[in-house]
Amino acid sequence: MGERAVRETTPIPVESSENLNSYAIAQAQFDTAAQYLDIPAGLRDHLRHTSRLTTVEFPIEEDDGTVKTYTGYRALHSRVRGPGKGGIRYHPDVTADEVRALASWMTWKCAVADIPFGGAKGGVVCDPKKLSRSELRKITRRFVVELGDTIGPHTDIPAPDVNTTAETMAWIYDTYDMMHPGKNNLPVVTGKPVGMGGSLGRNEATARGCLFITKRAIEQGVVPGLDSLTGARVVIQGFGNAGSIAAQLFRDAGATIIAVSDSTGGIFCADGINPEMAIAHKQQSGSVVGLPGTTTVTNDDLLHIDCDVLIPAAFENQIRADNADGVSAKLIAEAANGPTTPAADKILFARGIPVIPDILANSGGVTVSYFEWVQNIENEHWSEDQVNAHLRTKMEAATDAVLKMQIEIRDRNGADVDLRTAAFATAIKRVATLALARGIWP
Ligand code: NAD
Repeated sequence: MGERAVRETTPIPVESSENLNSYAIAQAQFDTAAQYLDIPAGLRDHLRHTSRLTTVEFPIEEDDGTVKTYTGYRALHSRVRGPGKGGIRYHPDVTADEVRALASWMTWKCAVADIPFGGAKGGVVCDPKKLSRSELRKITRRFVVELGDTIGPHTDIPAPDVNTTAETMAWIYDTYDMMHPGKNNLPVVTGKPVGMGGSLGRNEATARGCLFITKRAIEQGVVPGLDSLTGARVVIQGFGNAGSIAAQLFRDAGATIIAVSDSTGGIFCADGINPEMAIAHKQQSGSVVGLPGTTTVTNDDLLHIDCDVLIPAAFENQIRADNADGVSAKLIAEAANGPTTPAADKILFARGIPVIPDILANSGGVTVSYFEWVQNIENEHWSEDQVNAHLRTKMEAATDAVLKMQIEIRDRNGADVDLRTAAFATAIKRVATLALARGIWP
């Protein structure tokens, strides 16, 4: 997440006839891929469901002395391949179903990236824009106490997500450490500050992973009419951890960032936006809008800008049946979780626009979280070069595995499937194979 001065939380209001329930979408994506795999029906049914949902309600005394009750969730989807792993989100729109969906995507993401974790996710229904730092710290500490041993270094390991930062992770670690003194509790949470066991490169990992995967996919010929990022025109929706760092890394890789947006609106400049200037402008004014030399665009316009690569890096359900027809990108790389609906996937596939799905495209974050966990257990510190080199290897292997599965499904089933289906099939096969090898307990 980075230590951003500005916290943005407002999602795009959406009116759509599609079912936009994230959990229903996650299960639909699972079903689409699972049909190409030979998995016993009972196990298939089990894997589409969350193993556990913990709901907690707790009081917080706010700065003015009033007491308010907050609701928090932690969902565990699967621990077949290792401890649950997944971020904690602070947002007024957090729901149990959103957290369940995000937990299941974490299972599939960790399996695609081939790291030994299962899937989990958490969230607290709150609006960080309206909370002071001390109120956020109280919410975090009380949430962790309420979760108790639901989380743990070898059972379920949180990380940052929307509106939570390295500082939030420090509070989680500190609280858990108070509850379990005398042990090495650093691996209970990842995305910590570097001085507190955090890994070098974690802050940039989601965006860097997205870059490695996008480059690999382009090199492998996935994108008709695009053979390099040099000179590629890139549009980014969302300018937080994932989006703003992606802007810098894609620019460094030779691309031109022609449009970016945040919750307040978007900006466009055909000659290229300087990401550092956009970050500075946002820090000063609270918005990317108004950066000198750019024109203002709406978020809907932004998704329709003619470009080579479109990177959604904000929230779920941004590219839908009602706007997918207007997308004019050659490639979509999903830095955000769940930005494209199943109906939009069909439209984009029919139009020949490949979508690198979230469970692959943003798996760099959890991959470096895994590296952090390993370093914490071994009491080691890797150099940034070491982290990035390992990340590249993992991301390229994950991309190649998904492309191989796409070909396998075509050869075996005679079906042309999109990259999301191939990525889910890769992940489900890995999880199901291990579940069968372990046996259903007891
Ligand atoms: P963040 O809070 O740092 O940034 C979110 C950004 O989205 C902000 O710039 C905000 O202004 C913008 N936004 C909000 N509403 C918007 C709107 N209506 N239109 C355009 N932009 C809008 O969060 P983040 O960590 O960058 O996460 C963004 C996405 O990436 C989420 O889907 C998250 O789950 C996913 N993700 C993050 C990580 C990570 O390591 N941080 C890892 C994997 C996936």
